[in-house]
Amino acid sequence: MKAKSPLEIYKLLPRTNCGECGFDTCMSFAANVLDRKAKVEDCKPLVEEAKKNKKAAEKLEKLKEITSPEIDEVVIGKNLKIGGEEVLYRHELTFFNPTAFFFDVSDTMDEKTIDERCSRVVEYKKFYVGKYLTLDGIAVRCSSNNPDRFAEVVKKVAGYGKPMILVTLDSECMEKALKEVAEENPLIYAATPDNWEEFFKLAEKYKVPVVVKSKDLDMLKSLASTFKSHKIPVVLDPVTEPAGKGLQKTFERVIQIRRTAILGQDRDINCPIMVTPIAAWTIEGDDVGKMYWETVIAGVFTVKYGDIMILHSLEPHTIMPLVTLRANIYTDPRTPVQVEPGLRAINNPDRNSPVLITTNFALTYYTVESDLQSSGASGWLLVLDTGGLGVEVSVAGGQFEPGKVKQLMEETKVAEKVDHRYLVIPGLAARLQGALEDELGWKVLVGPTDSGRLKAWLEQNWPPKDGVKVKG
Ligand code: SF4
Repeated sequence: MKAKSPLEIYKLLPRTNCGECGFDTCMSFAANVLDRKAKVEDCKPLVEEAKKNKKAAEKLEKLKEITSPEIDEVVIGKNLKIGGEEVLYRHELTFFNPTAFFFDVSDTMDEKTIDERCSRVVEYKKFYVGKYLTLDGIAVRCSSNNPDRFAEVVKKVAGYGKPMILVTLDSECMEKALKEVAEENPLIYAATPDNWEEFFKLAEKYKVPVVVKSKDLDMLKSLASTFKSHKIPVVLDPVTEPAGKGLQKTFERVIQIRRTAILGQDRDINCPIMVTPIAAWTIEGDDVGKMYWETVIAGVFTVKYGDIMILHSLEPHTIMPLVTLRANIYTDPRTPVQVEPGLRAINNPDRNSPVLITTNFALTYYTVESDLQSSGASGWLLVLDTGGLGVEVSVAGGQFEPGKVKQLMEETKVAEKVDHRYLVIPGLAARLQGALEDELGWKVLVGPTDSGRLKAWLEQNWPPKDGVKVKG
């Protein structure tokens, strides 16, 4: 997006503050467009005026130009978005659309295997920092070279409702499959220097996005610009070589494409990039080594500009590190990940259960909460609003301080839920112990620095033995 401030967008809006876009003012709308929470087209008065008035039409075009992302956004299936990035480094702004992980099935697999693999993709979910991490889609490979079999398997896979990539270089096989599932908006893979004319016709006829593939970046650019000039959404595959010098060259090609697109403002290759870690399965050796390299390659390109990938291994040791890495790369660095402050009841606490406190930084909160849940210990967990900062930082920065703790305890009425007056604070907040006791009039116990040791700590220290009353 060329616009760097809301003012640049605001200047081109009608500036009547009519509110039709759902925002109170044009400036607020402009700020939300800049943040990608609203689209220029949501300003209906401008869109309507542009139909009648040349000047308004020019403003609308200009707005679209300065607000379109540096890297094209391509939609696969109903609403899986890839690309759409603005920057090379996430801390310059943020990354928007997480790398999409697709897993392969082949039309030479038996029906049971295909069903098992599709089900695993559909059903996979892992809870992490307040949300479920999932997998994105299924890549159907035509290994049979039989158009009927490929179409049959593609149709079956479409029944699982996930976005699809159709993988064949043969235009006859591709067309047969597209006749079955074009409405599902699959990504077709791949147009090469040898088959691009047929794939061009297919992409135009069935209105589907296409991957263009070549190791030669000049050729890749030429293919991409041909498709893009006809408004066909394009994904670039600069070919993934899975080992040795080839892997190094793959990395260099991917970096070069993205740098040329963003720094060089090259509109021919400002497309999402596909990487195929599945190529690791061509390396000599056992399956463990192949899975290892597949995971490593996918990890490297999750960090560096891989917008969509095809993988084979559905083993937890491949998937878990990748979805976790992706979740961390694609969180917005401008907004600390946080949870609602308040009071949580863990494992049915009663009037003698301990009262503990942590911060509302999501990673801290979910770690403490899950450590308590899994330990079987019950307790009242106060969650302090520190603006999404962890314990150590918020103690140092003053967001975790006695006045705020007192206010939280009053708001949550925690004193009415227990028959004792003890508060367990994190070990990393130990230096607040005295100040908290003065402010609260409660006895403050310093818990462990690592919530993984809470169970053992509570077994030793709860109920307290220093004479402050705990009924029971
Ligand atoms: S609809 Fe357009 S003119 Fe009306 S407030 Fe929104 S941005 Fe401003």
